[in-house]
Amino acid sequence: MTELILPAAPPAENTASRSFTELPLPPGIQATLQQLEYLTMTPIQAASLPLALAGHDLIAQAKTGSGKTAAFALALLTKLNPRRFAVQAMVLCPTRELADQVTQEIRRLARFADNIKVIALCGGTTMRPQMASLEHGAHIVVGTPGRIMDHIERGSLNLEALNTLVLDEADRMLDMGFYDDIAYVAKRCPAQRQTLLFSATYPEGIARLARQFLRNPQEVKLLEQHEAGKIRQRFYEVKHEERLQAVGRLLKHYRPVSTLAFCNTKQQCRDLLDVLQAQGVHALTLNGDMEQRERDQVLIQFANRSCSVLVATDVAARGLDIAQLEAVINVDVTPDPEIHIHRIGRTGRADQEGWALSLCSASDKRRVASIAQMMGAEPEWHALSELETDNDAPLVPPMVTLQILGGRKEKIRPGDVLGALTGEAGFTREQVGKITVTDQSTYVAVARDIAREAVRKLSAGKVKGKTVKVRALED
Ligand code: ADP
Ligand code: MG
Repeated sequence: MTELILPAAPPAENTASRSFTELPLPPGIQATLQQLEYLTMTPIQAASLPLALAGHDLIAQAKTGSGKTAAFALALLTKLNPRRFAVQAMVLCPTRELADQVTQEIRRLARFADNIKVIALCGGTTMRPQMASLEHGAHIVVGTPGRIMDHIERGSLNLEALNTLVLDEADRMLDMGFYDDIAYVAKRCPAQRQTLLFSATYPEGIARLARQFLRNPQEVKLLEQHEAGKIRQRFYEVKHEERLQAVGRLLKHYRPVSTLAFCNTKQQCRDLLDVLQAQGVHALTLNGDMEQRERDQVLIQFANRSCSVLVATDVAARGLDIAQLEAVINVDVTPDPEIHIHRIGRTGRADQEGWALSLCSASDKRRVASIAQMMGAEPEWHALSELETDNDAPLVPPMVTLQILGGRKEKIRPGDVLGALTGEAGFTREQVGKITVTDQSTYVAVARDIAREAVRKLSAGKVKGKTVKVRALED
């Protein structure tokens, strides 16, 4: 295995050598990339695409949000024959929401040919419609290992024509106990194929997967270096017993609209949630035991800015792409410096600045030292006593999520809800936030001060010509 270690260069550097136009991509794909305004490759794309397009198997490691989806999507689309109505590429993802994100991104990139069919095969919904879609012919399938396995067992998914297998978020799939399912699926793919493995971290299980299912893989690893200045990192000394209370003080002082708070254990997540909720903070948590619908609701509320703090372990939060995140709080310092860098890389995205705040007790000092060494920067230490605590105004999220019973199944579209709120109900566009339609429900974020009235007016009026049931997701 060759290893290519590329520290992420600042974007201005090497721009010329990172243009997609230098890659052997078909003209249709080049045009689509231009339309999407994907002008330069992200570092992981620049490192992995030439190898993937040359047909190599690949192990690629880079943080969330680095553009890994396009890295494998462009490779598999380049090989795809749209005139052949058979599954030619398959992407395995850990969860339905990640599979949905990947499906959307592949569809966007596949626009150059209007007849490439990409379907998602995930658990949590009935098999029959998926089987019908497969019968109509699909070129690319994206799904969770368990559900794909079901389809193979029932004979509804034929893999004879498959030439690319992608394992996306492989570390997370292993965390979720999918090793055997992945093995089952990989063994049923043709031996003559290209296998691309993408992962944010590199635990031992990845090497085992690679040994078993990849052939002479090239390894691309992107050491993270966040752009200086975008993420402002501070370490706070705390006594172990003050840790949970200290989170509330950080929130009061920095007043971030959205904060992701990392704990090392599920128990710590539960304890922190109790403390924050008792302080009147709008906080929610994610964990592996939640049902998909519950998970969706939490993510929707956090992403649309109606929940201030999302408390999670690394496992629960992996892969989540949240656009606007003012702060990451490390309630516990992680023993793994790479995971620390990965955690804080979620804030300070795009051109926004972000805070990375870590609470450290005396016994965490060694961990902080290895983080500092890996990041090549001295830690900036602060004391809790410096924090402003006079401001008694509670930290309140700007929006409230309203749940409307009825979703895709009822053919509700975001425009219908926006229309109902800005039409008869008389609200302005600015008072309406993100609208998310799921199978059974539609969620709309509205400005906090109009929430009650919006519930009343939506319940009294009509959406898509029908009376609907509406409730606010908080009391
Ligand atoms: P990852 O899988 O590494 O977490 P994604 O593939 O989800 O990251 O990409 C993150 C975001 O970056 C997506 O919104 C995607 O559309 C965007 N993106 C990817 N590649 C490029 C590019 N070359 N130029 C501009 N935007 C890009
Ligand atoms: Mg991804």
